[in-house]
Amino acid sequence: MKMMNKTKMKKKPNKNKKETKQASLTFKWVSAVAAVITVSFVIFSIIIYSVVKRQLVEQEARLTSNVVQTFNNRLDNIPDTLEISNVVPRLSPNTGRLLAGKASNDNDDSRQVFNDDVLASLANREMRVTIFDPTGSVVFSNGNSDSSMKMPKISKNGQQTIINKDHQLHLVAAQPIHSEINNKLIGYIVVDNSLSRLNDVLHSLRLWMTTISIVGIILFSLFAFLIVNNVVKPIKQMSKISRAVNNDPNSQDRMPVTRRHDELGELIQNFNQMLDRMQAYIQQQKQFVGDVSHELRTPVAVVQGHLNLLERWGKDDPEVLEESIQASLQEINRMKHLIQEMLDLTRAEQIDVQFPNEVTNVNEVLSRTINDMRMIHQDFVITYNDALKPNTMIKMYRNHLEQVLIILMDNAMKYSTDRKELIVDASTEKDKVEIIVQDFGEGISHEEQKKIFNRFYRVDKARTREKGGNGLGLSIAQKLVESYHGKISVISELGSGSKFKLEFPLLKDEKN
Ligand code: ADP
Repeated sequence: MKMMNKTKMKKKPNKNKKETKQASLTFKWVSAVAAVITVSFVIFSIIIYSVVKRQLVEQEARLTSNVVQTFNNRLDNIPDTLEISNVVPRLSPNTGRLLAGKASNDNDDSRQVFNDDVLASLANREMRVTIFDPTGSVVFSNGNSDSSMKMPKISKNGQQTIINKDHQLHLVAAQPIHSEINNKLIGYIVVDNSLSRLNDVLHSLRLWMTTISIVGIILFSLFAFLIVNNVVKPIKQMSKISRAVNNDPNSQDRMPVTRRHDELGELIQNFNQMLDRMQAYIQQQKQFVGDVSHELRTPVAVVQGHLNLLERWGKDDPEVLEESIQASLQEINRMKHLIQEMLDLTRAEQIDVQFPNEVTNVNEVLSRTINDMRMIHQDFVITYNDALKPNTMIKMYRNHLEQVLIILMDNAMKYSTDRKELIVDASTEKDKVEIIVQDFGEGISHEEQKKIFNRFYRVDKARTREKGGNGLGLSIAQKLVESYHGKISVISELGSGSKFKLEFPLLKDEKN
């Protein structure tokens, strides 16, 4: 209960934490992309806008300067003060006659004047040209200027200035007119270029740039969202599945099989494999604990039974005492043997880490093990057919090869019946070493052959127990052999004996 509460308490905050993180990941990525795109668009727009504006202003400035120059050239041959009567004829000889004596701010006439001759050649209706006399009063203007119009400050070099009138840019150029005849200051020319074309172009440029930027930012953000979502979606799914597995270790939830051939596809595949493997380990572990406790229960019960017997009557009865002690010792021995085998099995699962570079001479280990077995089991005839090439080497720790051989030969003898004979064949094939341990005992049915490598599996539980078997020998042998990339198999006929075959890859240097 305590454990359960603990896990429950741990899981809840985890869940919320993960969900918030996922939600913000998409948001973060999309916002980052949108921010980068916005900044890029703004910088790009500013550059384009400035370049276009500069070009247009330069163009207008040149035009304005030409206008000033033309007016100056026309008027600088007047010796005295500028007046309407001497200005108009010089600017427009054809209409001079008609205008003589008329006010300079007559709209229609002024326009007429502007369209004529010099003025007409300029043909720029957005320019207002005003001529002042030296006192600063208006002598002539082509626009709607009134006589109260003030003369702007005039810089010496006739520089042009850009001013902002009612959100419209204006280019103003002013220049004094000196009489060419006596170099007397006879008046001033002021050209006010309203830059309406430039203002229009800049206005529509701003409009287009804003529209394109907004549409671009929306489109790019949408595109970024789709891409990010494509990456984040499987991550979210994975997180959901890991939560499900975390809550229920037996959950069969898996990531759907995907056709993507990228890092995410690989991650999904590995994720599924990892879950499968993890669950298989959990299952194995559970089964192992179950099997072990089941296996230990019988000997513990036997010892307990005998001790109870001793407690009740055995103390006084030497016969019961002797029998119970013997039986208990036997069971304890069996338990000791079982514990050793379980340890061997656990160790056999970690071989590749502990003995990665061990090499064994097969001939040597085989001869020695067979000789030892012959000594211990003198009632058996053990024939050894050695067809191995001299110094056949395999990648395996020698004690492990010996352990596997002992397990097989021990079984062969344990399950032999009348014919107490054993044949061991060893040969070097093209790229592998084959060792066969053959007996002529009780044999194993086809059905049972599939199960004998399972942990704690015994064909006949009672009989095997009699012979001291725990059903772990072949599991240990299989784990050891497979850890060294070898193979173990069985060919057997019920009643006529069994052949256990070991195959190991031949060490490369020793081939041929
Ligand atoms: P055990 O320690 O019980 O012998 P093993 O894993 O070595 O456990 O063997 C599993 C079962 O396979 C044995 O209980 C036995 O029934 C069967 N077996 C193994 N080797 C042979 C053999 N050479 N002949 C007949 N049966 C065998």
